Amino acid sequence: MRVVLLFSVAACLGVAAAPATHPANSPERKLYEELNALRSDRTRVYHVRQFALRRDAVRLVFEDGTLGLLEAFHGRVLGAVFSGSARVLATPRDPAEKRSLSRFVGAPLLDTPVSKVYLRFTDGTAEEIESFLRAADAKPVDDPAFVTDWNSVLGNLNPASSLRTLRDLGAPSPLPFFEAALAGSQHGVFEVSVDDRRPEQILMGQVKYREGGRYYDLWAMFPRAEGPGEPESVVPVRYSIETTVQDDLMLRGRTQMVLRAVRDGERILPLTLSRELRVQSVSDATGRSLDYFQNEDLSEQEVLRRGDDLFYVVLPEPTRAGQEFQWEVKYSGNVITEAGNGVFYVGERGTWYPHPNDATRFCSFELTFHWPRKLNLVATGKKTEEHEEGEWRSGHWSSEVPMVLAGFNLGKYSRASAEAGAVHITVNANQQLEQALYSLFRARSEEGSAASPIGWRKTSEAWKVANLAAAEPPPMPAAVIGQLATDIGDALRSLEQWNGPFPFARLEVSPLPAALGQSWPGLIYLSTLTFVPKAVQQRAGLGERTSFSFSDLMPFHELAHQWWGNLAGPANYRDEWIMEALANYCALLYLDSRRPGDRVLAHALELYRGDLLARLPDGSQTVDQIGPLALGERLDSSLTPDGFSRVTYAKGTWVVHMVRMMLQDPAAKDPDGRFRGLLRALVAKYRFATLSEGDLRRELKQIMTPEMDLESMHSLDWFFDQWVHATGIPHYSVDYKATPGTKGVLVQGTLHQEGVPETFLARVPLYRANGPGKPVLLGWVNTSGAETAFRFHAPVAPEHIVIDPGQSLLAVIQ
Ligand SMILES: [Zn+2]
Repeated sequence: MRVVLLFSVAACLGVAAAPATHPANSPERKLYEELNALRSDRTRVYHVRQFALRRDAVRLVFEDGTLGLLEAFHGRVLGAVFSGSARVLATPRDPAEKRSLSRFVGAPLLDTPVSKVYLRFTDGTAEEIESFLRAADAKPVDDPAFVTDWNSVLGNLNPASSLRTLRDLGAPSPLPFFEAALAGSQHGVFEVSVDDRRPEQILMGQVKYREGGRYYDLWAMFPRAEGPGEPESVVPVRYSIETTVQDDLMLRGRTQMVLRAVRDGERILPLTLSRELRVQSVSDATGRSLDYFQNEDLSEQEVLRRGDDLFYVVLPEPTRAGQEFQWEVKYSGNVITEAGNGVFYVGERGTWYPHPNDATRFCSFELTFHWPRKLNLVATGKKTEEHEEGEWRSGHWSSEVPMVLAGFNLGKYSRASAEAGAVHITVNANQQLEQALYSLFRARSEEGSAASPIGWRKTSEAWKVANLAAAEPPPMPAAVIGQLATDIGDALRSLEQWNGPFPFARLEVSPLPAALGQSWPGLIYLSTLTFVPKAVQQRAGLGERTSFSFSDLMPFHELAHQWWGNLAGPANYRDEWIMEALANYCALLYLDSRRPGDRVLAHALELYRGDLLARLPDGSQTVDQIGPLALGERLDSSLTPDGFSRVTYAKGTWVVHMVRMMLQDPAAKDPDGRFRGLLRALVAKYRFATLSEGDLRRELKQIMTPEMDLESMHSLDWFFDQWVHATGIPHYSVDYKATPGTKGVLVQGTLHQEGVPETFLARVPLYRANGPGKPVLLGWVNTSGAETAFRFHAPVAPEHIVIDPGQSLLAVIQ
């Protein structure tokens, strides 16, 4: 374990820089090392034929080969190895999971030969193997080559499952796991596992390297037939986090957390903390030092799958459900980097302090920071005090309302503020652009000015003078903060008309030197590019779309996340699209209302439709076909590293728009009254709680109109199944004839629906166009299959029929 050097501020602030205090010889550590050391038992090697193991939707058939048990661990067999001919078969139940599997392995079910199998388990697998061997009257064989072969790799394979195994050993009601690492000629090395500690217990996937990147391709993940597993062992109750940012930007932290046990009998509990931060000690409320396992013991799969870093703490006694206990964790490391020109990048934003894995619980936070006096620091919550002491500054922030995460930002800021009703807004900007952006704008400005106008000689005095004038100084981020504060205030009041009151008493806006924004409770990060005036961006050659994303959309998208993400949070990875979609749609609603002549929303929807229909570089699929919204971050994979952002914003925004259109009542005083009511109801009911797709379906069901009930089941399941759990964008065309009658004209014809399954349902409005006036509604067609007949009466024959001119549907109109 690395010992962190003492530094001056630690002494002056009374933060003792303790070396790692690892009770190195705790019983659990010994067991852990024994588990890592398990080898193939040379006395328990067998020839097996046609032995099958079934775990829910997974079947593993050992057709013909050699099976060896691992040495017993305190009398218990916890693993086995196999070489020979085997086959793994798995069939997800859910259509979306079948499609996901198909995308990675080429078929909606997994059925592939493998030649090597490494099994680890704490369930009944050992008993099953032993009873098979007894029934087959199998005799041990002497196969030193098999044993040597496997023993040469077990040292590397074992640690990935040792901590997981340890969590179940000795637990009064264990949540067992079964994991198989398999190697075959068709798919290389992959994993199939069933783990009752995962909400979605069954998983298939593999680590994949592509173009220098490392990915975990999650082929399929779904709950067992009997339903989801136990989601969590402990939940946070409150945090008190003391953080020192040193002169050299190293972060030293001490987090005291009160946790509540959800289950009885847990001995080893996982926490998340960035791998960049080294734990120095963990202690309980009495100051007793607790053993822990950090980073070095994690499987690559687990790290990639979670995208976070886990560490495990060993409890002195097993938990009792409902019991609250306190831990103090000390750690230090580098999560802040200097981006040049006094601009800082705060990394590891979700993992800069330790917390239970599942960060979806709202609770209270007390934050104390110590930082160099020359810098400004902003954080989530209400600042209750700030003072200077020599070269240092200290401050305290207290959450006034429950928060799901805490965050901070720092830099040498210039500030502007604005009031929006009772909300105080502060916009912080760096005094300069970070080096990368500074260079970009410098380079572009010199490039631009070097192209002298025709007829000007570069040597002429006149050109030199003109060039001097053209080489403007790079933009100062602080120049835009006054306007940004006013705009955000304006947007805040506008969004309150949709979502209800802003959830926090204040809002701090601060820059992040990256091409991204992020929203914390009462604190927003905006890309430093947002602080560059649009005119300068355009002069530097930035595209209109990029400019729109950073300057127009991002500030208000992150603002809307204050409701959608920070007031109500996603329940799990499958619901993340809800927050992104609502935040994005709210931002567009605001922009649309601010500049009605620009038709910002209509234009954005057009762009998103185009994005979804665009082909991926290999030409095989469209962006929409990457996968359904409900796959969340699983849309990112080696096949499409940016799948999540490509699908979620475009499709999610359309889904919210379609909901709004279905709820709209053009005849009402407030045509959007029902949609507004939905947003308000969600905010009221899921305040400081999670909001799942199930919740959204339920709330919509309450307010749906009869026209929305396309299945006559009083539900919007058809809508969610088609647009959230499946891919596909319908194409529509129409043919018709108009027959004059006694009371006007009979318009009858067929609406053609293509590009989606036969069962796809939609309510498609048809309009007649006559002359230069606005098209007039003929009526609605509820599609059933590829062709749906319609009959409408009209006063005159249409010159032509226009399908959905009001953009109520994500569709291609032909
Ligand atoms: Zn977002």
